[in-house]
Order: sequence, then C-alpha cells, then structure tokens
Amino acid sequence: MANRAVIDMWGNSRTPERHRKNRKRHTMTAPRRPLIAGNWKMNGLQEDGLTLASAVGEFMKSQGAAGFEMLVCPPFTLIGAVGQAITGSGVKLGAQDCHPAAKGAHTGDISAAMLADAGCSHVLVGHSERRTDHGESDDLVNAKAVAAHNSGLSAVICIGETEAERDGGKTLDVVKSQIAGSVPGSATPANTVLAYEPVWAIGTGRTPTVQEVQEVHAFIRAELAAKLGRDAADGIRLLYGGSMNPGNARELLALADVDGGLIGGASLKPDDFAAIALSC
Ligand code: PEP
Repeated sequence: MANRAVIDMWGNSRTPERHRKNRKRHTMTAPRRPLIAGNWKMNGLQEDGLTLASAVGEFMKSQGAAGFEMLVCPPFTLIGAVGQAITGSGVKLGAQDCHPAAKGAHTGDISAAMLADAGCSHVLVGHSERRTDHGESDDLVNAKAVAAHNSGLSAVICIGETEAERDGGKTLDVVKSQIAGSVPGSATPANTVLAYEPVWAIGTGRTPTVQEVQEVHAFIRAELAAKLGRDAADGIRLLYGGSMNPGNARELLALADVDGGLIGGASLKPDDFAAIALSC
C-alpha cells in the first residue's frame, strides 16, 4: 500500500514525483481528491471578504473539471454573504468552529445545525488556536466532530504538536493521542478530513521537511486504520497545514499521504491560494 511503501522515509532519497506515482499505483480504494482549504481566521469585513470569495469562485469556475476541491472557511459573520458569492462555482463553504450541542443556552456559540442551515458543508474543529486560546480538549473536539456529523457536515479535525513537543521527540506520541481522543468512531471518508498542523509551523513561515511531513501523515493513516479500519483510513483525506505557500505547495502536495492543504495566511491572497491549488 502507498503508506507502507513510504513509511520509513527519514533521509530517503525518493522524490515527491515518485510518491505521487506510488499513490496512484498502490491505492486500492477510490482516489482521494485533493482538498485545498482556506482558513480565513478572524479576518475579513464585508467588502474585502466578498472580493476574496468572488476571486476564489471565479478561479474555480475557470478550472472546469478541476482535479481538486476548494473550500473557504470565512468568519461566522461572512458565511451567508460568502455562500452567495461562491454559488455555482463549486467552491465549498465551511466554518471555523461549532458548539457540540445541537441548540440551547450557549450564548455566543453556533451549532453545527446552524452552519448547515447557512449553507456550510464543512467545519474546522480543534484548530490549535482554539485548543490554545479556548483550552479545547480532545474530548471537546471529538464532541464537536460528532455534532458536525449529526448535522450532515464534514468535520475537518485539526491535530499537531507544539515546538516543545517536537523538540522533545514527542511528535508521534502527541499525534497518536490526539487521534485517539479527537477522532470519533463515526468518522468516515465522507464526513471527516484530518489536518496535520504542527503548531510551530502555523503562521511562522517554517515547515517540517517533506520527509518529516510524509512520515507523520503515514503514521496518522496507520493510526486511523487501527481505529477505523483500513478502508476508512485509505479514504480519509489528510491535509497538511502550516505555512503552506505557492513556493512549497508542490512538493508537499506531491507526498503520498498528503491529500491537500489547510491554508491560513496564503488563503487571504487569491493569487496565492489559486497557485497552491494549481500545485496539486
Ligand atoms: C492555519 O491556521 O490553519 C494555517 C495553516 O495557517 P498558515 O497557513 O498561515 O500557517
């Protein structure tokens, strides 16, 4: 299988193009269509948000039958307007968080059902900025993913180690425990995407080496196989996130177990976001 062929990659000399060929040759399930997802974070007022959304929509339309999918995750305030701006373009609409409950007395929160009602097909859960800023635990992230599933949304579950954890040689342990805690048993290729985002790479301009990214992604897929079964693990898309840009996207996206990107800063620049998509 593709992940077994590349699992021992530290220092391995195979090129990303070889990885891509390996994926095509060995994957037994339906091919995983790359997903290029933009996380706008707390950025965008009506005017610039709509300009950006329209540009992404126009780009996607210009691609015809593209070999990739695009997703934009604007702030809650722009979901309705962005949804209208991308209508008919094929670009998917997502949110950046949801509450685990379906409804109720949770002032200031937004449920997965509300997001679905507003036109979203996806929602990010467990982004490291929420884990850090709001103390979100794996249990809470898991409950949010279940809420997303129950409302018919795909959960984009984010995991990744801090710099101290990486320096301490704990990357795989952290990722293993986040998968055990954050990924619900209801996860399938149709309702779940996993984003591996080393915390130290987000917004810093730093990235792991491609060998390191592939090693972690292959490990994630093996952990998913142990938890959900081989077919589910082979079908679930694994995004890399953390300072992806037009200069590094091609080699990252060519890796056998990288099925797209979760992009923050570069997703706010339509030309960069498009260039990343064209790197698939
Ligand atoms: C992110 O916030 O998910 C992210 C990957 O940000 P950036 O691309 O800016 O590193």
